[in-house]
Amino acid sequence: MLSDFTLTELRNFAVEKGLPTFRGNQIFDAIYNGKSLNEITNIPKNILEKIEGDYPKAHIAKKLESKDGTKKYIIEFADGEIVESVLMKYKYGNTICVSTQVGCRMGCKFCASGLHGLKRNLTSGEILSQVLLVNRDLGGGLKERQITNIVLMGSGEPLDNYDNVVKFLRLITSADGLNISERNISLSTCGLVPEIYKLADEGLNITLTISLHAPNDKLRQKTMPIANRYSIDEILKACKNYIDKTKRRVAIEYTLIKGVNDSKASASELISLLKGMLCHVNIIPLNYVKERGLKGTTRAEAYQFVELLEKGGLSATVRRTMGEDIAGACGQLRNEILAGAK
Ligand code: SAH
Repeated sequence: MLSDFTLTELRNFAVEKGLPTFRGNQIFDAIYNGKSLNEITNIPKNILEKIEGDYPKAHIAKKLESKDGTKKYIIEFADGEIVESVLMKYKYGNTICVSTQVGCRMGCKFCASGLHGLKRNLTSGEILSQVLLVNRDLGGGLKERQITNIVLMGSGEPLDNYDNVVKFLRLITSADGLNISERNISLSTCGLVPEIYKLADEGLNITLTISLHAPNDKLRQKTMPIANRYSIDEILKACKNYIDKTKRRVAIEYTLIKGVNDSKASASELISLLKGMLCHVNIIPLNYVKERGLKGTTRAEAYQFVELLEKGGLSATVRRTMGEDIAGACGQLRNEILAGAK
């Protein structure tokens, strides 16, 4: 697909098709402005016919807006598969949360994304399309960029789709494209250790976020199958290597599940585990997913948990919840749509 291509690759593509190189620039402009093929007016029809098969078909199939300004998009691809992207407005800019796979095969017990397993990986162009379409929906384009921050925290495990995700990161940070700063990008993983080492060597200084959700392996294994493959010890070693190589602070996600990982003892264990590491802990009360049954803590309990962590010397905050009225948590809206379609 042409959205997988860099500007140079598109210019070469034009030449291969027997076209002048500037046609490559025009196609690049159209893609990065989020245009569909039939909205392109500066390229003759006979040329558009030549590229039609390769031109991205991703489009916004549905959009929901929350009271707090959060927007949730359902993006549909050429084969009819759908993913969710979420736009969150902060004082400092607009953050988009993108999906990296259709479904997920990690099987975390609290997460809605994996309820139907993994359907397929997204290509780099399909991950990019989510940003470009939402950027356009906000009135932006290649020049007047509306999106300032990106989090790879939608459906899917980014490091389970490594090559496409890294190519996407190169496209989105490229000076020819939206030129998003590496510092404004976070990648969240449940902890695929070999890929964390690999990522540290890519020269991409993005923020690494680890979905930890438990202070020891035994507890982690109860909710996260990946914990049977890699220990917390191995994950934290990989994080330390990432910090050494990138000089970036790692973020730790800890979702509070009532009666599972929210005790004082869990807080103490977490403190001993993370003390001295260059990291920040994000505490998130679990979003209730009815198919999963697990319950979250109250926000007040989350603040108490943070207080314990801070007293123990960790840097921690409660993550703001946004878009709860529009099925905000990972994979929730796609599931509602899939269930409704049955
Ligand atoms: N697979 C990656 C990317 C998903 S990011 C990862 O595991 O990090 C989404 C984040 O939301 C992860 O930290 C995930 O564990 C968390 N999450 C999933 N379901 C949730 C729920 N119901 N409530 C709160 N957080 C949830």
